[in-house]
Amino acid sequence: MIAEVIVDVSAYPIDRPFDYVVPEEMRSVIECGARVKVPFGPRKVVGYVTRLKQETDLANSKMKAIDELLDLEPVLSTELLAIAKIVARETLSYEIDALQVMLPAAMRAKYEKFITIVEPDAIIDEDLRNLMQGRTRIPLKQVTSSSLLKMIKNYVAQGIITVDNSVSQQTKVKKVRMIHIEDSSTLASLLDTIPSNAKKQIQLIQWMKDHAGKSMEASKVIEASGVQQAVLKTVIEKGAATESHEETYRDPGVSQLQEAQIPYELTEEQQLALDKVNAASTTNKAETFLLHGITGSGKTEVYLQAISHVLKQGKEAIVLVPEISLTPQMTARFQARFGGLVAVMHSGLSAGEKYDEWRKIHRKEVKVVVGARSAIFAPFENVGIIILDEEHESTYKQEDTPRYHARDVAIWRSESFHCPVVLGSATPSLESYARASKGVYTLLQLSKRAKNQQLPAVSVVDMREELKEGNRSMFSRQLADAMHIRLEKNEQIVLFLNKRGFSSFVLCRDCGTVVECPNCDISLTYHRANESLKCHYCGHEEKVPLVCPQCESEHIRFFGTGTQKAEEEIAKLFPTARVLRMDVDTTRQKGAHERILRQFSEGKADILLGTQMIAKGLDFPNITLVGVLAADTTLHLADFRAAEKTFQLMTQVSGRAGRHELAGEVFIQTYSPEHYAIELSKSQHYEPFYQLEMTARKQYGYPPFFYITLIQFSHEDLMKVVAFADKGTTFLKGSLSPETIVIGPAAAAISRVNNRYRYQCLIKYKKEPKLIDTLQQLIKMYRTDWIKEGLLMSVDVDPSTIY
Ligand code: ADP
Ligand code: ZN
Ligand code: ZN
Repeated sequence: MIAEVIVDVSAYPIDRPFDYVVPEEMRSVIECGARVKVPFGPRKVVGYVTRLKQETDLANSKMKAIDELLDLEPVLSTELLAIAKIVARETLSYEIDALQVMLPAAMRAKYEKFITIVEPDAIIDEDLRNLMQGRTRIPLKQVTSSSLLKMIKNYVAQGIITVDNSVSQQTKVKKVRMIHIEDSSTLASLLDTIPSNAKKQIQLIQWMKDHAGKSMEASKVIEASGVQQAVLKTVIEKGAATESHEETYRDPGVSQLQEAQIPYELTEEQQLALDKVNAASTTNKAETFLLHGITGSGKTEVYLQAISHVLKQGKEAIVLVPEISLTPQMTARFQARFGGLVAVMHSGLSAGEKYDEWRKIHRKEVKVVVGARSAIFAPFENVGIIILDEEHESTYKQEDTPRYHARDVAIWRSESFHCPVVLGSATPSLESYARASKGVYTLLQLSKRAKNQQLPAVSVVDMREELKEGNRSMFSRQLADAMHIRLEKNEQIVLFLNKRGFSSFVLCRDCGTVVECPNCDISLTYHRANESLKCHYCGHEEKVPLVCPQCESEHIRFFGTGTQKAEEEIAKLFPTARVLRMDVDTTRQKGAHERILRQFSEGKADILLGTQMIAKGLDFPNITLVGVLAADTTLHLADFRAAEKTFQLMTQVSGRAGRHELAGEVFIQTYSPEHYAIELSKSQHYEPFYQLEMTARKQYGYPPFFYITLIQFSHEDLMKVVAFADKGTTFLKGSLSPETIVIGPAAAAISRVNNRYRYQCLIKYKKEPKLIDTLQQLIKMYRTDWIKEGLLMSVDVDPSTIY
């Protein structure tokens, strides 16, 4: 028997499986998708079994054998193995990278497999008893005979033995110490032997008598009986109880937010949408739906009921949400509806917690996963629906290899499972809406809010006028007036500061010098907390200079607006208002997100001030006013998606107001009120924006009219990077079809990062059958030769930004 193994070596020029002999004792247990340890050159590496076969082209004598089988239960299903191949091909990455991205980080770290006997009495076999020698837990690698391995596998299936990965440091399987209290007669006779001055011991045993025969966590016993740890230890030694250590899951915490447990009666539009999705899941149809519903139209309720339908058929559901910001309230809604059947996977969890959530999915102890991008690889084997909420979000695209888009993976997996995909958004990506218009996706529309509330009235405020009138504050008079009124009524306000692309830099007022990073061609960002300047690209950090490095003027100071500055201004203008700030600084701590949101939902603050992270998902009844302090900052980014991103953000933010009984109003402050992305966000009508933006995309040749692929080159030596970029571009021009446009090479917008010069070239195409082949050849040249000369090259098919 021979196994094809994809090894954990991604520096190798060739990306292919290697053949290994399966040793006799592993033959009856090895499965595809299991991890193995194999010799590779002089090293031992981990690999994934992707195929088992009887024949090979290699001479048997040349073939090495698998050293060790790391998983009795495969960690990847054959379906995921197939998806990994697609991901690797479509994103031009190594197959090993595609395999690794599917597993929680803990499983990629160092580990050792252990077997634990849960029910020693059930094990009657002599060989196994001899091996265990009375121990209940041993490393799996001590089991070398094939008959024993097979027997253990059977016991695992019956739950008599468990297998776990003992992963290095932080990611161990968590254990709790359980105390098993003896019966009351044992305790009574023990009590007689305790000297009367051992008051604490007597107190504990008395307490135990009230709980005789029970098992409890040690911490609970200590807390409830009011004694110290040492006392418990002593009475256990005297025979009052026994103890054991049992496997448990870390508790990432069930959200404290209150959400409805019972399904709502759907509106007509919701029902129509649900019926279509249910029809697809009932008939096992891999259909992709675009659920286009305005903010507050009840898309989430449609997801919830579509999932219920799928669960009733005994199938599973994957729900993706864009980022942590969405998770507390969103997961609360899922947990309220599906209770313990929900696993949560987001970047706020520790490696150990992620591993535990993954195991719950892998063991099918849960049926629904709600998570960020990588949850798309949840190891379910009977998926009935895949949902991407806020499908337009750029966080669904992974920026490192493998550069996959969760939307694509969702559709590939839906084809394996013959199940529907639901893409939901109030402001779909142009690509998705175009596909829906062409009938590639099925369009479902929710045009009204679920409780028939009015969309908020949106006013655009021209900040240039404010400046002319002498108002230098961050708040226009209109917004400030509206805030006073809402504060008086005890209603809540959300203030949004669009920080992406926002420069809080240090500038010399005399000569105009901006302090830049010595390693990168970009200005340094000011951080007030420690009066320092930081580079967001390379991590360089320095103190804020006291004098201008150029002209030695002392008039050098911080410029720009951040949430801290806004907070100070609010304090001046509205001294009695209670403000909560939510940005990267205030949410660094675990659980901070949820805490801030809970405080706000409980009415402990009047104003929630924040960045991007408050734009989405917030759904609180008392929010009646939303202010956007500066809408322009995304608009002027040199990005073909700038207008789309601005429109999406404005619509999302505005959607936070007036979602319940109270009517809402929105003020958008801007220096470019005439721009269509701002102008059209007033009415919140997607369709007219879509039409105008499509015209612009067509004119400039951008998606969805053209596909694009971005190739980036970087090198420490400017001459070398130019030479390689030239070589690469020339190769592409010569190999691709004449209709395909290859632009460049040109210096990247940020032309130097971390002392490496950056060049890029862009491929635009409508249909390019030779694309993948050509790119693979380019990558091969890079991996075999160019990389040795210090070049770094990346290929990004369908990049989320091209600058
Ligand atoms: P979206 O995800 O489209 O922004 P939500 O699903 O958050 O909208 O729904 C907005 C609000 O309306 C939520 O408070 C939700 O509980 C409520 N809701 C949704 N559907 C219904 C319904 N059919 N009847 C009453 N309330 C509903
Ligand atoms: Zn100066
Ligand atoms: Zn830098």
